[in-house]
Amino acid sequence: MFVLVLNAGSSSLKFNLFDMTKEVSIAEGMAERIGLAEANLECTLAGDKRRDTLPLPTHREALEAILERLRAAVLHDTPIHAVGHRVVHGGPKYGDSVLVTEEVVADIEHFSLYAPLHNPANALGIRTAMEAFPDVPHVAVFDTAFHHDIPDFARIYGIPYELSQKYGIRRYGFHGTSHAFVAARTALLLCRPLRSLKIITCHIGNGTSICAVLNGKSMDTSMGMTPLQGVIMGTRCGTIDPSVVEMLMEYENLDYKAITDLLNKKSGLLGISGVSSDFREIEMAANQGNERARLARDLLTYNVRQFIGSYATVLDGVDAITFTAGIGTHSTFVRAKVCSKLTFLGVKLDPEANEHGKGERIISTSDSRVVVTVVPTNEELMIAREAVR
Ligand code: AMP
Repeated sequence: MFVLVLNAGSSSLKFNLFDMTKEVSIAEGMAERIGLAEANLECTLAGDKRRDTLPLPTHREALEAILERLRAAVLHDTPIHAVGHRVVHGGPKYGDSVLVTEEVVADIEHFSLYAPLHNPANALGIRTAMEAFPDVPHVAVFDTAFHHDIPDFARIYGIPYELSQKYGIRRYGFHGTSHAFVAARTALLLCRPLRSLKIITCHIGNGTSICAVLNGKSMDTSMGMTPLQGVIMGTRCGTIDPSVVEMLMEYENLDYKAITDLLNKKSGLLGISGVSSDFREIEMAANQGNERARLARDLLTYNVRQFIGSYATVLDGVDAITFTAGIGTHSTFVRAKVCSKLTFLGVKLDPEANEHGKGERIISTSDSRVVVTVVPTNEELMIAREAVR
C-alpha cells in the first residue's frame, strides 16, 4: 500500500512516499521557491538524489513535476492508495486526524486566524492534491490534535473568559505527531506499556516544544495558541511579557505586521546572538568565545530545563525524558547541560552513551531513576500511519 505524505508551505511542497506494507519511505524530496522564476526540485528516488531547477508557477505544477518523477522512477503503474497531509492548526474542532471533505478544507482555511503563516498553504496543498487524486482518500493530520484534550486549566489563558470563548483563544500546542511518536518509541525502549508511563518529550529543533505525556496522552505543552510561545527557538522569541510588544510597537514605531515579523523571524537564537538561527553555528561561535552566542545557547538549555522541572510536577513524577528533533537528537552539549541540573529528579546521564552513541538509544546510566532517551523523530511516518488508520 503506497501512501503519499505532503507538507505544503507557502512557497514549498515537501513529499514522502511510503510503502506501508513495510513502513518504509521509498522516495522523498521537496519543491522550493514555488512561484519564482526559477524553482528548485530535489528528489531522492530509490536512494538516488537529483536536483533540478525549473519553473514551477504554482503548487499544481510542483505536484505534477513530483508525480512525474515518482511514476518514472518508483511507482510506475502502481497507484497511490491514500494521501496524508500535514496541517499545522486544527483549531478547537479537530482532536484527531480526519478524512478530508470540503467542510474540513473550509475549516482549515478558517483556522488560518491562529496560524496565518501555515494553514492557508496547508489548505492550498490539500486542494491541489485533491485535484490530482480525486478518487483517493485524503487525510488531514493536525499538529495540534495530540494536545486537544489537555486539562482545561492547562489550556486557558488569564484573559476574560468570554473573549477566550468568542475567539477560541487557548493553548493548542504543536509538534503533536512528533511528541506522540517519540513517546511511543521511548516506551518500546523501556519495554514498558506507554499507558503506564510519565514521559517528558523535548522536541528541540528550529521550532522547540516540550510536552508532558501521561499514559500516552498530552497533559501540557510549552507552545500556545500559536507556535510562538514557550522556549526560545531559532528565530522565535518564546514566552515574553506582552508589555514588551506594546513598548516596541510604540517606541520603534512598528505596526502589527512588523512586530509579528520581529517576534517570529528576527528573535530567539538569531536575535540574541546576532550570529545565526542555526544551532551548529551558535555552538561554534560560543565555543570561540562569542558572548552573545553563549547567552543564546544558555537561554535555550535553561528554558528546556525550566519546562522539564515544571512538567515533573504536572506529571507528579517522571519515568523518562526524551530528546528529539535536530538539536535534541544531535547536540550532546544541550542534552548534557539540560540533564546536569536534573539530579534532584534522579537523572544520571551516561556520558559515553550521550556522546558516542548513534540513533535511537538510552543515554542514562542503568541506576538512573529517570531513563533518558534519544529518539530521532519521524513525523512523516506518523502521518502515513494516520492515513492508513
Ligand atoms: P529541525 O528543525 O528539527 O530540522 O532542527 C534544526 C536545528 O537542528 C538547527 O538549529 C540545526 O543547527 C540543529 N542541528 C542539526 N544537526 C546538529 C548537530 N549535529 N549539532 C547541533 N545542532 C544540530
